[in-house]
Amino acid sequence: MEIYQGKSVFGGIAIGKVCVYQKEEQQVKRSKIEDVDSELARFHTAKDTALSQLQGLYDKAVKEVGEASAAIFEIHQMMLDDLDYIESIENIIKTQMVNAEFAVAETSDNFSMIFASMDDEYMRGRAADVKDVSERLLSVLHGNGKNALHLDEPVIIAADDLAPSETVQLDKDKVLAFVTVHGSVNSHTAILAKTMNIPALIGVDIPLDASTDGKMAVIDGYEGKIYVEPDADTLADKEAKLKKDLEQKELLQTLKGRENITLDGQKIMVYANIGDIKDLGMVMKNDAGGIGLFRSEFIYLEKDNYPTEEEQFKIYKTVAETMAGKRVIIRTLDIGADKQASYLDLGNEDNPAMGYRAIRICLTQPEIFKTQLRAIFRASAYGKVAIMYPMITSVEEVRQIKEIVAEIKSELTAQKIGFGDVEQGIMIETPAAAMISDLLAKEVDFFSIGTNDLTQYTLAIDRQNSKLDDFYNPHHTAVLRMIRMVVDNSHKAGIWTGICGELGADPELTQLFLSMGVDELSVSPGRILSLRKIILETDVSKCAEAMLEKYL
Ligand code: PEP
Ligand code: MG
Repeated sequence: MEIYQGKSVFGGIAIGKVCVYQKEEQQVKRSKIEDVDSELARFHTAKDTALSQLQGLYDKAVKEVGEASAAIFEIHQMMLDDLDYIESIENIIKTQMVNAEFAVAETSDNFSMIFASMDDEYMRGRAADVKDVSERLLSVLHGNGKNALHLDEPVIIAADDLAPSETVQLDKDKVLAFVTVHGSVNSHTAILAKTMNIPALIGVDIPLDASTDGKMAVIDGYEGKIYVEPDADTLADKEAKLKKDLEQKELLQTLKGRENITLDGQKIMVYANIGDIKDLGMVMKNDAGGIGLFRSEFIYLEKDNYPTEEEQFKIYKTVAETMAGKRVIIRTLDIGADKQASYLDLGNEDNPAMGYRAIRICLTQPEIFKTQLRAIFRASAYGKVAIMYPMITSVEEVRQIKEIVAEIKSELTAQKIGFGDVEQGIMIETPAAAMISDLLAKEVDFFSIGTNDLTQYTLAIDRQNSKLDDFYNPHHTAVLRMIRMVVDNSHKAGIWTGICGELGADPELTQLFLSMGVDELSVSPGRILSLRKIILETDVSKCAEAMLEKYL
């Protein structure tokens, strides 16, 4: 077994034979010409043919991978029609009295070198596109069709690099994965691989010869590895992973785009919990209806100093834009207790879980709080952003928050900085908040129950103390009754309640939460699909009585 490591462009497992794809090198000879005009005409005819080929590829790609990914062939058409590119070729033909092939090859080298030397990574990626376009022109001038790879069985394609036009010409049913020695993560081939939903690795130092060609291999797109001639254990392990992926995919296919509605018509929102932008891929993959909890403190924990307004704004904006109009609930800084950052200098406490943390820090050090609020409000101009505040225990705290929020809004308005309509919610994770949820409901737009802390504080059990694991019982009637109370009080006040603590993902309790009328469940992305499956298979009218009886 040989193992090669590369960069993963798209996750997933593929198992199959490797097919090494070698490009036919277009040999270009420099030859002198007599008749400049007829050589120029030859070039223009070839260019028109190449343009119509590209139009054909565009039409094929639109059908197979959608308009956005097909756009690369429009860009290729524009490159071929680019005045600088054309003038360079014409100029070489005229001044050097040489054949069109040589002029195209020379221009291709020059232009791709210019792109490759640019600072911007995206522009560097365009060097491959210039080469691809020029290869096409050369191929037309040579009188060849573009050499498409004909495949008889599904294979893992291994190549030095793959041009977008080569990628799109492949028979999609016959390609299990791509592996390239070169290529960039931003290349259009990478983008096409993502759109085609197949594992792809780049930057893999794999030999493109008989030592790999035709050999059995496994690609693990999660690890960025290819195993050539895998041993029995590796193969069994990857087969199991593949099976799991396929089951997930099937489930996703049946659930994607479907409303989360029970058999008897009760709707519920299923959102995702995230701690980082990196989690967004999983959020999309699992088709979350929104972000129910963005634990913003991770931005602070990753840094050596306070993250600036600008740094935070960029992160929140990316999340809001990526979620494209779906609700994104950003929880303000919930630091302290188990989440410590040295620069915050919170000091030693005898009882940190009950100490100086979360909203208590924000209200006593408003400058930290205001920086974050400004960043969130600014990002709200780019999507549907909501804010929620952690560790609330009183109405007074909420009123203080609202005053600060009002200050931020007028500051931004005075500075002519745009912001959206931001819903304001609170976490219900202290018994105090649960017990006065009728009063709190009048102050905010929504509740989100943090069952992790609610269980800790209700049962007086430190959630960090592993000795107490057997006592930490989130199914405790006291906790579940509080949840019901909070839901009822929110509905009486006309607002909604979600659950973002771990209990929200507990499949044993999904029917209970539906029976209570919980409006939203926010869980880690990997738990979404199984949760949605239970919801779609539940008839609340049939199970509610038994559920409430059993647990409350
Ligand atoms: C909770 O307490 O349930 C919660 C969601 O917040 P965290 O786990 O981040 O404290
Ligand atoms: Mg909490």
